[in-house]
Amino acid sequence: MRFSLLDLLIVVAISAVGQIAAHSLQPLIGIATRGAVEVALGVFLSGLLYLLVTPPLYWLFRLTPLFLPICPGCRKRPNGYLVTDRQWPRATARCGACGQTAELWWRRPQSPPAATDVPILILRWPHSLGRWKSTPGKVPT
Ligand SMILES: [Zn+2]
Repeated sequence: MRFSLLDLLIVVAISAVGQIAAHSLQPLIGIATRGAVEVALGVFLSGLLYLLVTPPLYWLFRLTPLFLPICPGCRKRPNGYLVTDRQWPRATARCGACGQTAELWWRRPQSPPAATDVPILILRWPHSLGRWKSTPGKVPT
C-alpha cells in the first residue's frame, strides 16, 4: 500500500468535513446524538464522502491509487513497480519482485492497443483505492 502525505491530507480533510456534517445534521435528524453515535455518523459520512470525492480528485490530478496491482507474473503485490514508460492514461511498469512487465491503464483505452503478450491491468472505480482488473494481453470488449 502506498500512502503519502498528500493522501493523508486528503483523508484528514474529508474526515473533518464528515464530522462537521454529522454535527450539523444532528438538529435536522431530530435525534439528540451524543458522543459515540455522533462520531460513528461522522465516520460513516466521511467514508461516503471519500468514495464520492476522491475518485475524481485522484483522476483529475493523476495521482497513483493507494493499492498497486497484483503482479500478473508472480501473483503477489510487490513493494513497487519500476515505471519504464508513461503516457497518460497508460504506463508500462516492471514488477519489483519478478521483473514481469505489465501495462497499467488508468481507464479503458478508447481504441484497442496493438496485440501484445504484455498483460494489461485496468484501474476500476474507485480510482483512489486501486482496484485493478487484469487481462492477459488484450483489452476486453
Ligand atoms: Zn511479479
